[in-house]
Amino acid sequence: MPAKIISGTEIAAQIRGELKKEVVEMNAKYGIVPGLVTILVGKNPASVSYVTGKQKTAYELNFYSIQDDQPDDISEADLIKLIDKYNKDPKIHGILVQLPLPKHINEKKVINAIDPDKDVDCFHPINVGRLMIGGKEAKFLPCTPAGIQELILRSGFETSGAEVVVVGRSNIVGKPIANILLQKAKGANATVTVVHTGTKDLEAHCKRAGILIVAAGVPHLVKPEWIKPGACVIDVGVNRVGEKISEKTGKPVPILKGDVDFDKAKEIAGAITPVPGGVGPMTITMLMKNTVKSAKMQAGIATD
Ligand code: NAP
Repeated sequence: MPAKIISGTEIAAQIRGELKKEVVEMNAKYGIVPGLVTILVGKNPASVSYVTGKQKTAYELNFYSIQDDQPDDISEADLIKLIDKYNKDPKIHGILVQLPLPKHINEKKVINAIDPDKDVDCFHPINVGRLMIGGKEAKFLPCTPAGIQELILRSGFETSGAEVVVVGRSNIVGKPIANILLQKAKGANATVTVVHTGTKDLEAHCKRAGILIVAAGVPHLVKPEWIKPGACVIDVGVNRVGEKISEKTGKPVPILKGDVDFDKAKEIAGAITPVPGGVGPMTITMLMKNTVKSAKMQAGIATD
């Protein structure tokens, strides 16, 4: 039987619907509006497009949102001063600095300047530590891994006791998703293996996985025959392999491929995310979820 297709587009829309309701309720009950600032340095087209997507979603959810565009020659000191202004602004609950930054700016210093309680991207070392400790300590979950967890859970897969294999150990996907799923908690409690370029037998590990999460950035790295029949496959990879002309706009658009051969894998897996339309749409949505949580925490309202 072909796999169930896990639509990130649909699940993200569902979560955004829940958030929209939550925002209305928070406003009516406590007079709070979640506030998000996105800081963009320079005009890198990919970064402009990411920030625009985040602002558009914040606007749709009725957030108080600011897009703060800065020239690419802004000094590191001035950027840190700007972050400090938002750290002190009570209307702002989430601060996002779009990466990458120009070479003359030290990204680590900039991330470290964000108040950890407003770090809705969850890149600050304090939040990375909180994530590792888990439980109530973990105020925010990083957006892409949090989105992956939601996709697994909302597709009806049980993580507790599951054999999870994560391909890739990056700080933004592999390590945090492994950490999230190994916690002794609801929606986690899995046995997690992380594989990478130093792993001896990638195939053998993948074949054991009841839940296989692939974040390598290598098109079709995972072969269909490496997938355990019935497994839940989350393909995080987004690889540009060429260009085509869009039927809608008549303009060139990138051809995207995942790290898994979707067409063949869907005949073996129990459920699988497509690329695009899988993990991608979840990332911005989880950023909004973190901002709502931050607004509640800063107002002293209980969060789950
Ligand atoms: P990354 O920083 O390049 O890390 C890739 C990881 O995969 C590394 O740990 C690397 O191992 C491992 N790897 C690479 N080739 C491998 C191979 N042949 N065998 C085993 N392991 C291998 O990438 P990333 O930032 O995590 O992103 C991964 C993919 O996800 C990319 O395609 C990216 O575009 C996509 N992504 C999508 C979203 C989204 O949809 N919202 C968000 C983030 C990332 P080593 O550590 O040994 O080098």
